Amino acid sequence: MEELFRRFSRQLLLSGIGPEGMKRLRSSRVAVIGCGALGSAQAELIARAGVGFVRLVDRDVIDWSNLHRTHMVGESDAEAGTPKAIACANGVRSIDSSIGIEAVVDDVDSNNIVELVKDIDIILDGTDNMETRALINEAAVKLGKPWVYAGVNSWYGTVMLIVPERGPCLRCFMRDLPSADGNCNVIPTIGTVTTLVASVAAGLAIRYLVGDNPEPGELIVIDGRRMSMDKVKVMRDPSCPVCSLRHFDMLSKPPTIGLTMVCGSESFKARLSRPLELEVNEVGSRLSKISKSVLVRPSWVRAVVKGATVTVLPPRLILIEGVDERQARQIYDELIKALGAEQQ
Ligand SMILES: [Zn+2]
Repeated sequence: MEELFRRFSRQLLLSGIGPEGMKRLRSSRVAVIGCGALGSAQAELIARAGVGFVRLVDRDVIDWSNLHRTHMVGESDAEAGTPKAIACANGVRSIDSSIGIEAVVDDVDSNNIVELVKDIDIILDGTDNMETRALINEAAVKLGKPWVYAGVNSWYGTVMLIVPERGPCLRCFMRDLPSADGNCNVIPTIGTVTTLVASVAAGLAIRYLVGDNPEPGELIVIDGRRMSMDKVKVMRDPSCPVCSLRHFDMLSKPPTIGLTMVCGSESFKARLSRPLELEVNEVGSRLSKISKSVLVRPSWVRAVVKGATVTVLPPRLILIEGVDERQARQIYDELIKALGAEQQ
């Protein structure tokens, strides 16, 4: 209690939190899905507020175009291509070493989403695409877990606390499932807006965890240019395929295997159908047969292959940046051969 008082003396004074709320926060488990601008800011806020455990999930690595808006990362991360989940975990650890932290460097898909959130008290949305949000929504409704939807586009953002059985779910107001070949444009963003939206989302999660009962089903619409915040009441749809009819289409859809373009970036990613059973040093030595520039890091390997920057993130992920699709496919085939990985 003395340690709690020293660190959280100002927060303990807040109505709605107090010593009881602090104890609840300290025993709470939170998953942040996506560790880019939105996710890193939410992770920082909930870690500083004193949650007990945080699971950080992201498949991507830090690059220079992330630095203007992503929390807890710097130039050394862009230089090294640090996986976002690991950079975020390092940041959280430096804020509070007593927090339980798990970094998961992987795609979120129908195979792993339930495992990632089933032991969690609330899920935070740090994703950048509707497909993953629809998947989170189905897992949350199926397991009865609350989650906070958060999205940003340009100067605008939207946030909603979703508590299954106590209000609408995401599909109640977004009826059409996102298609995989949907809009793949790079979204304009600025850190002032992503941080504002993340702050609203993390604030709802903290209030939920301490028992301050924030209202679920209120869509908060944020305009970071005009500086306004409005609330729209969303009603539960009695014919909603997810929360009313309990049809979990996204959860039953098999995950994509093989090389695909990453939306909103100029890179390609591949998720291997079988995990690589190689240590990073072994990955490094195999890559050195096809690359003169190989950098082995504690849990990933970066190499330049035929002009492309390749990142191998065992056990399942490969990222290829800086080339067109035809070249990326050739490089991917070479990588699969060099690594002795199974090709789907
Ligand atoms: Zn619904």
